[in-house]
Amino acid sequence: MKKLVKGIDASPGVAIGKVFLYTEVELKIDKNKIDDTEKEKSRLLLGREKTKEQLLLIRDKTAKKLGEDKASIFDGHITLLEDEDLFEEIVELIENDEISAEYAMTQGIEGYCEMLANIEDEYLRERATDLRDIAKRWLYNISGRAIVDLSSLPKDTVVVAKDLTPSDTAQLDLINVVAFVTEIGGKTAHSSIMARSLELPAVVGTGNVCSQLKNGDLVIVDALKGEVIVEPNDEEISKYMEKRKKYFDGIELLKKLKDMEAISKDGIKIGTWANIGDPKDVAGVLRNGGLGIGLYRTEFLFMNSDKFPTEDEQFEAYKSVAESMEGKPVTIRTMDIGGDKCLPYMEIPKEENPFLGWRALRICLDRPEILKTQFRALLRASAYGYVKIMLPMIISLDEIRKSKVIFEECKIELKEAGLKYDETTQLGIMVETPAVAFRAKYFAKEVDFFSIGTNDLTQYTLAVDRGNENISKLYNSYNPAVLQAIKMSIDGAHEGGISISMCGEFAGDEEATALLFGMGLDAFSMSSISVPKIKKNIMSLEKKECEALVERVLSKATTEEVMEEVKAFNKKYLS
Ligand code: PEP
Ligand code: MG
Repeated sequence: MKKLVKGIDASPGVAIGKVFLYTEVELKIDKNKIDDTEKEKSRLLLGREKTKEQLLLIRDKTAKKLGEDKASIFDGHITLLEDEDLFEEIVELIENDEISAEYAMTQGIEGYCEMLANIEDEYLRERATDLRDIAKRWLYNISGRAIVDLSSLPKDTVVVAKDLTPSDTAQLDLINVVAFVTEIGGKTAHSSIMARSLELPAVVGTGNVCSQLKNGDLVIVDALKGEVIVEPNDEEISKYMEKRKKYFDGIELLKKLKDMEAISKDGIKIGTWANIGDPKDVAGVLRNGGLGIGLYRTEFLFMNSDKFPTEDEQFEAYKSVAESMEGKPVTIRTMDIGGDKCLPYMEIPKEENPFLGWRALRICLDRPEILKTQFRALLRASAYGYVKIMLPMIISLDEIRKSKVIFEECKIELKEAGLKYDETTQLGIMVETPAVAFRAKYFAKEVDFFSIGTNDLTQYTLAVDRGNENISKLYNSYNPAVLQAIKMSIDGAHEGGISISMCGEFAGDEEATALLFGMGLDAFSMSSISVPKIKKNIMSLEKKECEALVERVLSKATTEEVMEEVKAFNKKYLS
């Protein structure tokens, strides 16, 4: 290769094509004083009307290509364009400074953009790109110039630009454009969001890529890694063609497995669920074929609010998830605040060891009104789907019994108030402390289900802070002690006659599937994107072989020996 340009992987994929440099002609903006301010005002207005017409057309095109959801980006643009305060500000600039419509408009919009640039919120900062998109179009329309046409380009084109605005992206010739690369932008820019929807590979934030390339250069866009390989040699081309094929085979696999259950070769059905933190995440769960939700972390609902969310606010969020999952299990965890998550509106005294401190259910049992509000909202949502309720950070039966008293009180209150709920709603617990793992069968007798939280179970079993980079090498769920704790939890659940899933990150670890399946885990819950791979793994396995693996692994003395054994097994049985 001649050069390697690094950037951000904004939309996944690998593409090979020839560069089309989308550099725009700088419009000359006249800064001189003008006499006829009325004429400038009417040019400004006409330019705005023309821009609106074009945006409406792009909106229609986008709605046809990508659906109403993505098209609504342009409703936002039109609203910004028609912002009367902004318009008045520009008109004042024309009148007071006696400057041209073009100059006044760019000045006015830059002022807004500078204001946005100082905002901490990444999403709002990215909106400056939308405003500049509108300004560019508006400027061309005031000056009567045509905008570069991106809707018909040669076959296998990689569009390279300083920045691509959402309207540029909407117009891209999708038959011939194979990827785009930009100098600026982040993952949350609208053009990146649209690229992902269009399944168009994109690398953004590459710095000065335009000056490093010329029209017609051959490039490989590795948007899985966020790299652009300039003028690759034959060997590189075949290597990336292979990578591209592997990626698209993976996508095909995902499509094929989407609606399929994970059933092992010997006919054992295993749950493949996903973890979410917000009702919006359900779309990703469905897209990736998640057949349930094994963990909905409700604390984000509490963290994204400036006060405790009311029962109704919580109810709406839980109900929307339950409804969207259409009868598939939705496991909702009660607030897990404390540790590394705090609420701006709730005083948690400074603690020496917050992960071992006043957190999660410990707070809720000391402040039962918090738990009561959440239980009521959850029970009400249970009337709209298959809701399961899960308690975090359990260490004693006493905590379960106290929670159940509150749970039953809530049911009585709802019944008396004539509010609907599902009487059979299950109440389960997270297994994330050794205190529960050691005594799993006793806990299993008092709850409806278990879900192993390996993120915490690993840190508490090994006494290794999960967030401390200095000791991250010690944090390893393959440590024989952690595996022993997992096995004890699974055996205890089954002895007590209940099912057990796993919702910690270990469930999404492709190397761990055989081990966990062999131990008897009933369901895996993970990030949505891991669902297809774990489904595929389960479909390739047989219980007996995996049980034998577990036996071998549990006799190993060290983490390294365990991993070696697991890797050798996976090499043989999982391709
Ligand atoms: C866990 O501890 O494994 C878990 C799933 O919960 P969290 O990561 O939210 O602590
Ligand atoms: Mg946890």
